[in-house]
Amino acid sequence: MAGKAPVGVLALQGDVREHLAVLTALGADARPVRRPEELAAVEGLVLPGGESSAIDKLARAFGLFHPIRAAIADGMPMYGTCAGLILLADRIDGAIAGQQTFGGLDARVARNVFGSQTASFETDLDVPALGDPPVHAIFIRAPAVVEWGPDAEPLASLPDGRVVAIEQGALLGTAFHPESTGETRFHQRFLAHVHARSGVDAPAS
Ligand code: GLN
Repeated sequence: MAGKAPVGVLALQGDVREHLAVLTALGADARPVRRPEELAAVEGLVLPGGESSAIDKLARAFGLFHPIRAAIADGMPMYGTCAGLILLADRIDGAIAGQQTFGGLDARVARNVFGSQTASFETDLDVPALGDPPVHAIFIRAPAVVEWGPDAEPLASLPDGRVVAIEQGALLGTAFHPESTGETRFHQRFLAHVHARSGVDAPAS
């Protein structure tokens, strides 16, 4: 059997452990990434939920901002949840002063879009690309995709039409947190992108 392609979880802030646990349970060689050398050793990267402006600042402080941009430009598969989706977007609404994103996903993502009344909620989402059953999605001060370009494909929407899961090539983003509900299909999809690109066998699940 071929070796496993190592994958990373950006470990500057946010729900890093939950992502590492899901990836490890799926048989992946998953590691935290805090330094450029650690990024250089992985073949895919998860950007966790947390606070996108804090992750942006820390990525710059840790010398990871430009290496992550370069990895995206080079086609490294990435999966962003919530704050991670914001970090993948080329354009954001509701940024704090000076907030930047890694970009790569041709989309506009609005931060904290559900307002204080519904800052956190749960719902079942149909995700045709994943099939049955529906995804039980937890939204926590979540963003939503409000505009996207021709190469980006919405994977799930709320009944009001706001897009909450999207994919463009090897970039995958969800506004909600599958890592907190035992939902593994988005992480499997991310790992499939990694294995397709690296030519390494997918781990048995
Ligand atoms: N509101 C956060 C942000 O704008 C995202 C929340 C989350 O990741 N759960 O970064």
